[in-house]
Amino acid sequence: MKFVFDNSFHDGMEGFYAPAEAAKPSAPKLLVFNHALAERLGLDADGVDTEQLARLFSGQALPDGADPLALAYAGHQFGHFSPQLGDGRALLLGEIVAPDGARFDVQLKGSGPTAFSRNGDGRAAIGPVLREFLISEAMAAMGVPTTRALAAVATGDRVQRERTHPGAVLTRVASSHIRVGTFQFFAAHFGADHVTQLSDYSIRRHFPDLVDAPNPHLALLDRVTGLQCELVAHWLGVGFVHGVVNTDNVAISGETIDYGPCAFMDRFAAEMVFSSIDTNGRYAYGRQPTIMHWNMARFAEALLPAIHAVDPADVDRAKDLVAEIPERFRRAWFDRVRAKLGLTQADDADAELIDSLFAELEQHAVDFTSFFRALAQLLRGDGAMMQGLLPNAETMAPWISHWWGQLEREAIAPLERADTMDAVNPLYIPRNHRVEMVLEAAEGGDMAPWLELLDVVRNPYATRAEWAAYAQPAPKDSGPYTTFCGT
Ligand code: AMP
Ligand code: MG
Repeated sequence: MKFVFDNSFHDGMEGFYAPAEAAKPSAPKLLVFNHALAERLGLDADGVDTEQLARLFSGQALPDGADPLALAYAGHQFGHFSPQLGDGRALLLGEIVAPDGARFDVQLKGSGPTAFSRNGDGRAAIGPVLREFLISEAMAAMGVPTTRALAAVATGDRVQRERTHPGAVLTRVASSHIRVGTFQFFAAHFGADHVTQLSDYSIRRHFPDLVDAPNPHLALLDRVTGLQCELVAHWLGVGFVHGVVNTDNVAISGETIDYGPCAFMDRFAAEMVFSSIDTNGRYAYGRQPTIMHWNMARFAEALLPAIHAVDPADVDRAKDLVAEIPERFRRAWFDRVRAKLGLTQADDADAELIDSLFAELEQHAVDFTSFFRALAQLLRGDGAMMQGLLPNAETMAPWISHWWGQLEREAIAPLERADTMDAVNPLYIPRNHRVEMVLEAAEGGDMAPWLELLDVVRNPYATRAEWAAYAQPAPKDSGPYTTFCGT
């Protein structure tokens, strides 16, 4: 398989990374390969046998032109600054420019220790690797900006966690791996020149339209802030809880990155937390906008030396930009909820409609994903799905008639409106109980259930009779769901 690498970070950003080497797996075996993504990248995988793919995407045989390196970064973890993190279990092979000109990082995750591993082993277990693959593919299918998964390969080695697990390597593809924490690292250890260099590189790579802005670093802050508002609105719109939105897990590209203890809500609850280590609910579902605001304030702080060097007066503008985030987020969020409700134009009545919706969903512990599909079914004259969710017909009846009344402000035929709603409201998400089941089977050597769930979540919108069970929430008696970082 021929890779055409163009390693701009390696060639242009010396001092911002450490060269690294992949550990050699003892018996690599391909678990899954993402042919559609390979094609999008312009990689020709036709006729490449699975043994060769397993060698390439496990670190056993690096492709020609790779310049493997580990990126340096810092980060606020649960509010506390860690000055020295970096790629401790990941290795950037290089950058590929796709046929349409888009540039992507190709990274191996779980391929052994690097200069930044600290006490970690640099490895990944099969469960978290297949979890990231599955959930990032689901996010991509739902149109949520995200890193992607190109391949998963079992290494044939065991990885020690609470117990031992089969090891695996994930090949992650991202528009870059530059994080808020990357800026924090160079701000903390080096200062204005390095921050400026990183900012200039980021702008050229991600936002070339900002190169000629009066203060490009201020423009970068503005752009990244806007992307984060959109991203978190997307998350909330699909019931996603990232679980560990530390600043080292916030990509400036606006893609979701680092799928650790993330999960999707079944019943709606603003305080929903899944991660075993998030004991204070810092990263609860409904706190994600506030945390994004906090993280963007840390990004602004890291950028300040560069912003100031261009024009000291712009420091105040940066503060204003950060102060405006809640309002900016709210606009993005309302746009998204309106689309979920089949409304196209903003109206003064929206705040009440939307705020009361979430209060009601919470009060009645309604399954978040199904609710919006059930609303569309009402427009088709079919109340069965809503009745399944709300057995008592009175429950939410006032809210539903309020919504129905609001629809009349736009002349859209009900069936047409129902179709546009279904096109943004997923029916199939990676339900927690299913994810657990398929990962357990995969760890035991049976990939079939995992592959079937992957197929389902890659097609989230169109109803299929044979997938009825996949649309169901966890059985009521299945208890609270907890996720672990154990990557
Ligand atoms: P995370 O919480 O997954 O975003 O990871 C935080 C930091 O810990 C990053 O610098 C990772 O590279 C590092 N890390 C996590 N797991 C390992 C591991 N098994 N070996 C080495 N470093 C790790
Ligand atoms: Mg991370």
